[in-house]
Amino acid sequence: MPKAELHVHLEGTITPETLWAIAQRNHVALPVGSLAELRALYAFESFDRFLHLWLAMCGCLRRAEDYEQMADAFLEGCDAQNVRYVEAHFTPYNHERFGFGGRRALEIVSRRLQAAEAGGGPVARLITDIPSESVLESGPYTAALLEEIADPVVVAIGLGGPEEGFPRRLVAPYFERARRAGYAVVAHAGETGGADHVRQAVLELQARRVQHGVRAVEDEATLRLLAERDVCCDVALTSNRFLTVYRDVSEHPLRRMMDAGVPVTLGTDDPPFFGTDLTREYRLAHEALGLSLAELWQLDLNGLRYGLAETGVRRRLMREFEAAGAALGL
Ligand SMILES: [Zn+2]
Repeated sequence: MPKAELHVHLEGTITPETLWAIAQRNHVALPVGSLAELRALYAFESFDRFLHLWLAMCGCLRRAEDYEQMADAFLEGCDAQNVRYVEAHFTPYNHERFGFGGRRALEIVSRRLQAAEAGGGPVARLITDIPSESVLESGPYTAALLEEIADPVVVAIGLGGPEEGFPRRLVAPYFERARRAGYAVVAHAGETGGADHVRQAVLELQARRVQHGVRAVEDEATLRLLAERDVCCDVALTSNRFLTVYRDVSEHPLRRMMDAGVPVTLGTDDPPFFGTDLTREYRLAHEALGLSLAELWQLDLNGLRYGLAETGVRRRLMREFEAAGAALGL
């Protein structure tokens, strides 16, 4: 089926093979001595370890061709899985911090995404994330960048990075600036942090969507808040298995969120880091959580309903999806 994905990090789609090739080409030392060791590093038990490698990876990107390679491989992956609409998180601040330049990186990526769309490829939009671990620098940087640019691919500001020790409200002034500049806002919350972070994202940041949001189930009032305000949660089952308390997928609260009336989508987060792809996530929801094909199809369509691309673009895709769904008997 054609698919729409709202929760994937562009930098998090770089495979160990691509990272190894880029690091070799740029003579950047990785914390490992071989590709095999690098592959072994792509297996996580903690968010801190994950973040450590993620930042090392961002530091390997040094040239325009590295960013082009990342964007092109990402788009090929979308094509291979029939992902027709995707909103990818991208973190310009990290590329600024490591010296390439955040705006330059964004422009290169945006050009590649626009070219793919013009050629009939996947429609991709970007969410520029503030990484929470560096919010005092990355917050003002990201807000200023969004105020300066007028890039048709950039639809929202987002909040990524670790949750523990980083209340969601820390980014409120920067999110306010982005809203005033015309952007939607979304935020990671309720992944490694609890339901209170989800409340902060909705009430204090006015997030249109929440990435993960799964720990909202720890508080009935927060679940109701999401349902009443129609805030969609972009859930990533395999990522949650590695980085959250839900180590056993059959214990995952996705079904409880749906039963509470919370709109949800399925996403991959950082697919090679968790050995997954979007098709696997759908299969997992079906096999481990018992979601029916009709339910999966509705989750898929939520990607267009709650996506932030222009209405005309989403309507065109919705018609394309409906035709494909009818042909598949969905
Ligand atoms: Zn994420």
